[in-house]
Amino acid sequence: MDNTGGGRAGPRMTRRNLLGSTGIVGAAMMIQNAKAAGQSASAERAPASLRISSVKATVHNVPVQVPLLNKTLKTPIVFVEVRTEEGITGYGLTGDLQRFGVSEFINRQLAPFLKGKSALETEARWQEMFLTFNPRYQTGAWSSAVSAVDIALWDVKGKHYGEPVWRLLGGARKRVPAYITFGLLQFDREQLVEMARRFLSEGQDKFKMVVAINHAEDTAEDAARVKAVRQAIGDKPDLMIDGNYLFSMNRALELAKRVEPYNITWFEEPLYGNDARLLAQLRQRCSVPISAGQNEGSRFRHLELLQHASIDILQPNVCYVGGYTEAMKVAGMAQAFNILVADGGGWPHHNMHFQAAVSNGWRVEFHYLMWKVGDTIYKDPPQPEKGFVTLTEEPGLGLEPRQDALKEYLET
Ligand SMILES: [Mg+2]
Repeated sequence: MDNTGGGRAGPRMTRRNLLGSTGIVGAAMMIQNAKAAGQSASAERAPASLRISSVKATVHNVPVQVPLLNKTLKTPIVFVEVRTEEGITGYGLTGDLQRFGVSEFINRQLAPFLKGKSALETEARWQEMFLTFNPRYQTGAWSSAVSAVDIALWDVKGKHYGEPVWRLLGGARKRVPAYITFGLLQFDREQLVEMARRFLSEGQDKFKMVVAINHAEDTAEDAARVKAVRQAIGDKPDLMIDGNYLFSMNRALELAKRVEPYNITWFEEPLYGNDARLLAQLRQRCSVPISAGQNEGSRFRHLELLQHASIDILQPNVCYVGGYTEAMKVAGMAQAFNILVADGGGWPHHNMHFQAAVSNGWRVEFHYLMWKVGDTIYKDPPQPEKGFVTLTEEPGLGLEPRQDALKEYLET
C-alpha cells in the first residue's frame, strides 16, 4: 500500500514536498516571489501601466471649531501624495497614530521602494510592502502608513480607468447609510442634547455618542447622558455608544445593563484592548450588540474577533487596517461569518468608498471632527443628507485637495 493517494505510483508525497511543489514554503519563499514579481513589474509591465515617480507624506494639524464649546480642537493627519510618470496623482490619508513615525517611514523607506513600480497593481504593491517591511505581522505604524499609500494608489487607479474607487472595488451600491458622531465627551448633558437636536432638525436619523465619562468609572452618569439624548431624539432614530477601549469588563457590563432600555444599536469597542475573549463574554451577558475593529491593523486581528464571536458588527477602517486592499479581505471574511461591516473611527470620505463597495457594508461614520477635517482639506466633498451619503461618479476618490489649507496647517 503506498501513501501517494489514489494508488498512483511515484515518490511519496510528504507535506514538505507538497508545499515545495506549490511554492508555499513560508515567508522566505514568499519574499523571493514578491521580489521577483516586483522586478518584473518594474522591468516589464510598468511601461504599459502607470509607474510611480514619487511618494510624499506630510503631517498636518487641522483645526476644527466645535459648536457649543467655543474652542478649537486640532486633529492631526498624515497626508500622502503619490505621483506617477504619466501625470496622474493620487491622495491618501491616515489619522494620528505615531504620525511622525508614519510619515518618516513613508518618506524614507516606502517612497524609494515604490518608485518605478506600477501604481495599478495594488495587490502586488501591498504584498511587497508587507513582506519587505513587516514580515512578522506587526501592525501599528506600518499599517497606518500602508493604509495611506494604498488609498492613494487606488485613487490613481480610479483616475486612470475613469471610474470611482467604490465601483472598482465592487460597486455594491451608490447610496450608503450615514451616521453622525456628535456626542463628544467634552459636552455636558445639556450640550449633548442640543447637538443631537441640531442634527435631528437637519434630517439626520442615526447618532453616536462617546461614553466612559469620568475615566470610565461613572456608568450612572454615562447612562444618564444616554437617556437624555434618547429622550431628546425620540424612539425612532438609531443611537450608538462608543467606549474607545476604556472599560473594564465589569464596568462595561454595568453600563450595557444600564442602557439596555434605550435601544442602543451598538456598543462600540467597550473593553481594554478589544480583548476578543472578553468581548465574546460581554456579548453573551447583555442584549446590546457589540462592535469593534476600527484600529485593528490587519486582517488577522479581525479574524480573531470573528472566530471568537466577539462582535455583532465588524469595523475595519480603511485608514488604519491597511487601505482598501486589506479592508476588502476583512469584508470577505466577515461575509463568510454573516457579519456586517460598518465604519468606526471616522474618516468618512475614504471609508464611504469601502462601505459602498461591499454587499455586507452597512454605514459610514461622519464623526464631527474628521468630517470637518475633510471639509477643510478637500474641495466640496460629499455630505451626509437625511441619514445617507451618495457617492459620486468622479474618477478615483473624487477628493480634490485644497492645497492652501494643507499648507496652512502643515506641521513640521
Ligand atoms: Mg470608535
